[in-house]
Amino acid sequence: MTIISPHTTKHIIKVAVPTPVRRTFDYLVPDSSTRAVVGARALVPFGKRTLCGVIVQICDSSPIAKLKHALEILDSSPLYTPQMLKLFTWASNYYHYPIGMMYAASIPPYLRKKQNVDLPETNNNTATDTPLKLNDEQKTAINRIQTHFNKFAAFLLDGVTGSGKTEVYMQLIEQVINQGKQALILVPEINLTPQTLQRFKDRFAVPIAVLHSQVSEKQRAIHWLQAKNGVAPIVLGTRLAALTPLPNPGLIIVDEEHDLSFKQQERFRYSARDLIIKRGQLEDCPVILGTATPSLESWHNVKQNRYQHICLTKRAGKAVAPEIEIIDTRHKKLDSGLSNHLLHQIELRLKNNEQVLIFINRRGYAPVAMCFNCGWHQSCKRCDSNMIYHTSCMQLRCHHCASQMPLPQQCPSCNTEINLLGIGTQRIEECLSKHFPKATIARVDKDSAGTKAKLQNILDDVNSGKVDILIGTQMLAKGHHFPNLTLVGVVDIDQALYSADFRAVERLGQQLTQVAGRTGREDKKGQVILQTTQPEHPILHLILFHDYHSFLDKIYAERHAAQLPPFNAQVLLRAETKKPQEAQNFLQMTKDTLTKGGMQSVSCFGPIPAPMEKRQGFYRAQLLLQASTRKDLQQALHHALHKLEGEKLSTKVRWTVDVDPLELY
Ligand code: ADP
Ligand code: ZN
Ligand code: ZN
Repeated sequence: MTIISPHTTKHIIKVAVPTPVRRTFDYLVPDSSTRAVVGARALVPFGKRTLCGVIVQICDSSPIAKLKHALEILDSSPLYTPQMLKLFTWASNYYHYPIGMMYAASIPPYLRKKQNVDLPETNNNTATDTPLKLNDEQKTAINRIQTHFNKFAAFLLDGVTGSGKTEVYMQLIEQVINQGKQALILVPEINLTPQTLQRFKDRFAVPIAVLHSQVSEKQRAIHWLQAKNGVAPIVLGTRLAALTPLPNPGLIIVDEEHDLSFKQQERFRYSARDLIIKRGQLEDCPVILGTATPSLESWHNVKQNRYQHICLTKRAGKAVAPEIEIIDTRHKKLDSGLSNHLLHQIELRLKNNEQVLIFINRRGYAPVAMCFNCGWHQSCKRCDSNMIYHTSCMQLRCHHCASQMPLPQQCPSCNTEINLLGIGTQRIEECLSKHFPKATIARVDKDSAGTKAKLQNILDDVNSGKVDILIGTQMLAKGHHFPNLTLVGVVDIDQALYSADFRAVERLGQQLTQVAGRTGREDKKGQVILQTTQPEHPILHLILFHDYHSFLDKIYAERHAAQLPPFNAQVLLRAETKKPQEAQNFLQMTKDTLTKGGMQSVSCFGPIPAPMEKRQGFYRAQLLLQASTRKDLQQALHHALHKLEGEKLSTKVRWTVDVDPLELY
């Protein structure tokens, strides 16, 4: 700790202030009696405002002649460890995000202001579970990982659904805790998988800090401080937990590493999975990426020998892999998208008192309301998007903005009847309640299970056996464990086979494998019925009837041939403006700056209008940058962004830099 007095020369602090300007700002320490420490929060005057920043350096001189005094230093000991300070500097460069905004984003909202919290006494759980006897594959996995304790190593724990990855995590965590260290576990969306948290609580009689955006602000601040002070040996959270400082991390786990939710899609567009690898290096700590469906990025890292590959090939315990059946829906009469065969199989399961899951990735009743006579259909006035009919409120809703309107009684332009086309969760629910009036049906989508409590209620009903048929979107695809579920029906996946997005097929593979993994998890064999108009499609067969590795190798080779990520680096610049064309003009200017910098190795595609050009009343455009080496791309971008900051247009346009974009719209 550096103690400052007016007699020493070190009296200048560099503060990361939450502003869009991409640098730190120098201040004088408030007065002689204040101790300044690197990693503490400081209140500083900034223009007419007072902002709360983080001290990143203490030094004795500044190029600026007239410095202002900081107003107050809020912490007597640092909030951030030296490793985290390094991580933030790295991330700020890598993601081209202003460092002060990044610090601000990493602190729980409650601590962003001049506030302190008193930590309550921590109470331990009462753990009731004991470790399971491991199978050979699990033993090998644990042996290989534990030899790398106390240093950095990255592992891809590639285990089929139900292979006992969580058991592997838990037994490793136990060792880490016994060494007096902390374990950090990142999971996709904690609300969706309350069972994961429960399993940890049942196993470990120690405080667990739970970090995600849906706990109250105060509670989150408390858990953050418990993690940061080392009071909580286990820290479990969503991507934002990756930014929590820990005094003594011994193991970092990213469960379901392929999951999209690890990438933040707004403001600081970081990938928690990628950032955590850097963090492991800085903290000398092993990192495990676990999944049944590895991302191609991780697959690439295995092939490049950057990650060690550990496989769990069999389901643990009694469960066996489900039986898979593809139903050709061409020329067949479907009832709200469901085939007779699927309906018949549902009936059989219900007779046996077993549970059924119908997976469809679209909420609402019908995606298109249209007139067959004149072709009228309702699109959103603020977005380039169709409005989706919802039965619950009898309204048409846009899923991209909050707009809604009543379904017109008749076609507004020719007064004939309006038809509802396509299927969503609500339509399936209606159809199944007609076919199976005695069955209890539960629907899980953003509308019915948008809050933690609502979702928990439904899941409790499923687990207690109250629910016979469960209809759900991708919210249900991952993580859940329903012992009595024996049939999964998958409908309406075909559009993924034709998508323009080069990642669509990879995601289809993940989704189908994850959904199939929900069935037959205990002693009853599970069955998956997949309806499609493309029953012969080779990709479907690779996903469903071969091991996932051959599917990965195939799409990996395709990416290589097309020179797409992970074989090159991409950055997407997005801009949006109220006025049409302005966003494109801004990106054109950016492109000119980039090309003037003389970077031949960087290719620019665009600017072009975004696939959905108009959204929430804004006109959106994008510019894709691509290079075979990341270094060239990063350098060119640094140079260009520096220049852009001085341009007037750059303050009028809403624009963002997305490094390693996962979604190109
Ligand atoms: P994954 O995380 O790979 O999907 P889980 O850890 O959830 O798998 O394990 C799936 C099921 O198998 C769970 O019910 C778990 O208790 C059980 N299980 C895991 N390991 C073993 C084992 N070694 N022996 C018996 N059952 C096991
Ligand atoms: Zn009409
Ligand atoms: Zn809209």
